[in-house]
Amino acid sequence: MILDIATLRVAFVVMAVVQLFLFYFSAYRVTRSPYSGWWCVALGFFLAGSAAYLLDGTPHQVWANPVGNALLVHGGVAVWAGARSLRTTLPKGWISAAIPLAVLVAGLVDDPANNSWAGGAVFLAAMSLTVGLSAHELWQLGPEYSRVRIPLASAAGLLSAFYAARLVAFLAEGGDGKLFTGILGSGPTTLLSMMLLVVASYSMPALSSEQHTRALRLVASRDDLTGLLNRKAFLSLAADRLRSRRSAGTWGALVLADLDHFKSVNDTYGHAAGDRVLQRFADACAATVRESDLVGRYGGEEFVLFIQGAGAERAEAVAAGISDRLAEASEAEGFEMPTVSYGISTYDAGTSSLEDVIASADRALYAAKSRGRNRSARSDS
Ligand code: GH3
Ligand code: MG
Ligand code: MG
Repeated sequence: MILDIATLRVAFVVMAVVQLFLFYFSAYRVTRSPYSGWWCVALGFFLAGSAAYLLDGTPHQVWANPVGNALLVHGGVAVWAGARSLRTTLPKGWISAAIPLAVLVAGLVDDPANNSWAGGAVFLAAMSLTVGLSAHELWQLGPEYSRVRIPLASAAGLLSAFYAARLVAFLAEGGDGKLFTGILGSGPTTLLSMMLLVVASYSMPALSSEQHTRALRLVASRDDLTGLLNRKAFLSLAADRLRSRRSAGTWGALVLADLDHFKSVNDTYGHAAGDRVLQRFADACAATVRESDLVGRYGGEEFVLFIQGAGAERAEAVAAGISDRLAEASEAEGFEMPTVSYGISTYDAGTSSLEDVIASADRALYAAKSRGRNRSARSDS
């Protein structure tokens, strides 16, 4: 059986165009999910790269071929960025630019006028890498994403392995070898790419709407001013942790923090300055505790921290660290930051009620205030 390359490419292009429309209008326009947006970008790059290859065999091949390679790899990078966006928000900027650039340079310095596989090894390696990284990201997704991520990760993994095999064949026998033009040739590559597109289509509605839902949930769990957890989200997450702690048999500390004489900051410097102090305090908390700890705005100028694995002493050290960091902001703000009072209570495997832990911390906080503020007090002393 002979796979007719020209026909396959036309089929691929038609499919990619249709998908671009579908992804844009039915997923991206509806959810604005970064995942669907990145896939639209990827398809745009795949189409542009395929268009550049049409100039192979003409005098334009000298630039169009390396550009085509770089565009296809850009598409791979976009698929990777989409997969990444399901887990984290930050794409790895410099890698995303460096990989296609390396492919472009490798093509340009390798006689692209006469050789349509100029820079081929770098191109094949880059395709295998970017598609493989996408597969890796999709495998890493947590259970909050539906199982459609599994066929998609598998398809991407398969395509990545196929590109790796092509690379080996290319290095071993060159661009006109039997394997490289046969079973590992352009025809099977186009077929496998089409398979990836079909699976991407199948999983697009679920993944983009799940990402959308996650983003909404994230907004709903955050305090507008400080970006910390809001009270409701904090209470729910802390209660979850307390429950799982009980079975894990470990301990930790809960700290309630209240800014001292905060009202006078508002009265003296204005409400906007008061808001900035609250943001500074939130930053100081986030910079002092570990990322896995919970920090919430409990209300007004009161904050709450849930520090796993900490005893009362460590909680006191954390409180002192936060106060020090807040004080450091005085210079930049141009006025003295307020001091802070803390109430500390601890929990262990036997603790069942979060309300009790908070009530203890609240009593300790009251004690810290009545002993003169700017200090922490422990519920156990
Ligand atoms: P204490 O040392 O006893 O805690 O005194 P305090 O002034 O800090 O406490 P009080 O409860 O009297 O005042 C809290 C103030 O916090 C009053 C309120 O206007 C202010 N506040 C609450 N939420 C915000 C906010 O989002 N922004 C600003 N700027 N101020 C807020
Ligand atoms: Mg208060
Ligand atoms: Mg206060």
